[in-house]
Amino acid sequence: MKEITDYLGNNWKYDCMSCSIANGNLKLPGGLVFENNYLTIGADPEIPLNGFMVIATKRHINSISETTSQERYELIDYISRTIKALKDLEIVKEVLIVQEERSKHLHFWIFPCYEKYTSLFGRGIVGVNDIIKYVKENVNKEEIQECLKTVEKLKEYFGGRKWKE
Ligand SMILES: [Zn+2]
Repeated sequence: MKEITDYLGNNWKYDCMSCSIANGNLKLPGGLVFENNYLTIGADPEIPLNGFMVIATKRHINSISETTSQERYELIDYISRTIKALKDLEIVKEVLIVQEERSKHLHFWIFPCYEKYTSLFGRGIVGVNDIIKYVKENVNKEEIQECLKTVEKLKEYFGGRKWKE
């Protein structure tokens, strides 16, 4: 069992975070942005960085190389929709996509690149760890409210829009 405290102060215990999110045992800050049969989209529970979204498969698999063609379709489709949503809603202009196989459950980070942080810690993958550390240590109440507001906007964006299906 692992244990985390999310950025709203709630404690969660889990064996696998992405499985717990998929089966509803771990409630993300603001709730899930979107889910279908293949994937979940929601805010990272520990890092209050506005617009930071995590897209995970529902199946407990480790690598993108283990996905079915349908899962591959859904993943890239919703990665692109999430990035488009963040841009359409004017949350952020540029993102970084991160996927690490060291995590046992396949997920992708859609990491927003804000000038105020990249100017301090570097643009792209080099700055990510320092930005996360800085955000966790320096976040204020207004920024947490911004994160939650963005989750609400994204929920509305995904729910209120007619996609092709
Ligand atoms: Zn899992």
